[in-house]
Amino acid sequence: MNLHEYQGKEILASFGVRIQRGIVAHSPKEAVAAAKQLTAETGTGWHVIKAQVHAGGRGKGGGVKLAKNLKEVEEIADSIIGMNLVTPQTSAAGKKVHQVLVAEDVYYPGASETSEFYMSVLLDRSKGRNMVMYSTEGGMDIEEVADKTPHLIFTEEVDPATGLLPFQARKIAFNLGLSGTAFKEMTKFVTSLYKAYVESDSNMFEINPVLKTSDDKIMAVDAKVSIDDNALYRRKQYAEMRDLREENPIEVEARSVGLSYVDLDGNVGCMVNGAGLAMATMDLIKMAGGEPANFLDVGGTADAKRVEEAFRIILKDPAVKAILINIFGGIVRCDRVAQGVVDAYKNMGDAIKVPIIVRLQGTNAELAKEIIDNSGLAVHSAVQFQEAADKVKEVLG
Ligand code: GDP
Ligand code: MN
Repeated sequence: MNLHEYQGKEILASFGVRIQRGIVAHSPKEAVAAAKQLTAETGTGWHVIKAQVHAGGRGKGGGVKLAKNLKEVEEIADSIIGMNLVTPQTSAAGKKVHQVLVAEDVYYPGASETSEFYMSVLLDRSKGRNMVMYSTEGGMDIEEVADKTPHLIFTEEVDPATGLLPFQARKIAFNLGLSGTAFKEMTKFVTSLYKAYVESDSNMFEINPVLKTSDDKIMAVDAKVSIDDNALYRRKQYAEMRDLREENPIEVEARSVGLSYVDLDGNVGCMVNGAGLAMATMDLIKMAGGEPANFLDVGGTADAKRVEEAFRIILKDPAVKAILINIFGGIVRCDRVAQGVVDAYKNMGDAIKVPIIVRLQGTNAELAKEIIDNSGLAVHSAVQFQEAADKVKEVLG
């Protein structure tokens, strides 16, 4: 589950990580009030107005702007709230901005130069350990840094049993070229950041940029946070932060009926039981010259009701030109699934306008094929994987 920048910063602050302070506003009026409050609390004269959407690269898309007085706060907030923000990380259609974060300007001049770093905490799956990834090249697109100057990206592997050790925090601050107050601030920053990542059950905390201010404070200017969905049951305070407006509406609906569904760009809808078989099915579709329109795991109980729910979800995607049902009958019997498909098809009347290919393998597969073939419906049945692929190819023309 992804969070907004302001929510990520709230979590960071609760673990003692220094952040660029800000207040959320839903209208230009609220933005002005927020700016006044920030000035009273922090003494800042300038403010940054930041679009709150689930996408990075907002600065590049015109979603982060500096306001030098209250009139500019109002004007900028007015232009950003309600806009369709297109960034390198959104689709061409962009994302509608419902709210902005009015934040204190932290790039003020002072005794030393400001500098921007990159830092993230995430799981290194190949090692089965957490890692802190960091770079002197902050504020930029980290993929580009990784591409052009990979030697400027450091990683620090962390043993989950011990957590981030003090010598590791010092090594990170040292590699970032810091000394004196900024060095000490950075060791504190990374230690608290790591704690926030672990104790919030997150998949990722990405802070880009981490700023060294002109008076040597280290703080998070941005926050991209993703909480592990599987941990939300025990992290209720974070589960409440979910903003459904930011999520794919078909995925939201699928989740509400307990289906594991991921929307993709292709034209062949997939209904499969088991994540592994779903992945193999997507490969099969590609080999047949199609592109999967979704990943959908109906799970272990593929009864008529579930099959129907899955049909409805898949058909919400207008790009779907064919549906491939690929079910392995292990615990669930194929004939039951076949009957479920036939019943769902009948229940849905005219709703299904695309060809359907059903491949049922496992317990009672032959009987299942008979049920499909005798149903009189425009459903193609297949027993073998290749047969199913050929049928997909055929119906895609
Ligand atoms: P992103 O573009 O979505 O990654 O959004 P960020 O929160 O990283 O902001 C984009 C850029 O805005 C940063 O890299 C900074 O250069 C700039 N920025 C953010 N906060 C301030 C601020 O307080 N003052 C100034 N002058 N610039 C800021
Ligand atoms: Mn950023």
